[in-house]
Amino acid sequence: MARIDLVDLAHSYGGNDAATESFALKPVTMTWRQGGAYALLGPSGCGKTTLLNLISGIVTPSRGQILFDGADITPLSTQKRNIAQVFQFPVIYDTMTVGQNLAFPLKNRGVPKAEIDARVKQIADLLDLTPHLDRKATRLTADAKQKISLGRGLVRSDVAAILFDEPLTVIDPELKWQLRSKLKALHRDLDLTMIYVTHDQTEALTFADTVVVMHDGRVVQSGTPAELFDKPAHTFVGYFIGSPGMNIVPAEVRGREARISGHPIALNRSYDTLPAGAKIEVGVRPEFVDVAAPAPGLLSANIERIDDLGRVRFARVRIGDAKFAARVPPGFSVSGETAGLVFNPTHVHVYADSRLVEGTA
Ligand code: ATP
Repeated sequence: MARIDLVDLAHSYGGNDAATESFALKPVTMTWRQGGAYALLGPSGCGKTTLLNLISGIVTPSRGQILFDGADITPLSTQKRNIAQVFQFPVIYDTMTVGQNLAFPLKNRGVPKAEIDARVKQIADLLDLTPHLDRKATRLTADAKQKISLGRGLVRSDVAAILFDEPLTVIDPELKWQLRSKLKALHRDLDLTMIYVTHDQTEALTFADTVVVMHDGRVVQSGTPAELFDKPAHTFVGYFIGSPGMNIVPAEVRGREARISGHPIALNRSYDTLPAGAKIEVGVRPEFVDVAAPAPGLLSANIERIDDLGRVRFARVRIGDAKFAARVPPGFSVSGETAGLVFNPTHVHVYADSRLVEGTA
């Protein structure tokens, strides 16, 4: 296992002369710690596969370096990087048995037979493949084949990292949940550095200790699921993580007060030095705004509908032209077309040109 450092790493498929703004991966410097479980999360086209392929060596970066445990491996081929990869679709040998498939990456490297047998048994047990070990892979379902692919990725204990590129896409939804939990358990048992690419926030948040969120070729935040929820560093993270996503509305901010549609909202921190000319917005998750009966002093909103999610209800409202979601407190019955909104100042964040502004205490 290795610590992976990306140093000013960037990639353009159009060559190094292209403008940085058009790069598939804009310059990034970050560290992936040894033994960490990471998810690389973002919508289609944001650059996840590009970053994964740079780490594995399938793609050579236009700029920057990749270090494994401090050593520059940027010029090395995929084989020399000692990486295991699991792709979207099963990569297995149909003519081999399940056991032979699992043993293949070890056999290929001349690992002693006793060691191979022990490791194959361990991985097969963990993935519930033991009853199938002697069966030819060709007769298995797509789900089982992908489990073998996962097993082949996990079977080596000496790899620098295991990279998963949307590995559960072909898996039946029910089994998906089981396999995700299983991967998390495997991560704990095997002490492996894992990087898991997905566009599905549930998949990312349930698998990873650290979620790396990408948007438009940039890493916009790297943090625990709780950090991404409580303090999104970028409005995109606020909007992309959470269901419903964070409310983001234009505001005027001065000191400890934000004005939304001219109405004052108290802030927990002071914002005296906002960048001149920046687009200023306030972000607050629906969980931290309650609807109440309209009252003087409360920001007024037009109710459009109520979404009852079982354990929680959200009111979909409008403030002027802006769409907004707010929690309906337990026991509160919504009547009429307008409501007052009660903000929890601790969770109201300020953004300048989409980036979080820290403010002062
Ligand atoms: P998806 O989830 O759809 O796979 P992604 O987040 O993995 O998306 P990438 O596949 O890394 O995104 O693509 C990032 C950008 O680079 C996109 O604009 C894509 O069109 C472009 N791109 C990817 N591969 C190539 C290539 N081989 N040549 C040219 N452009 C590419």
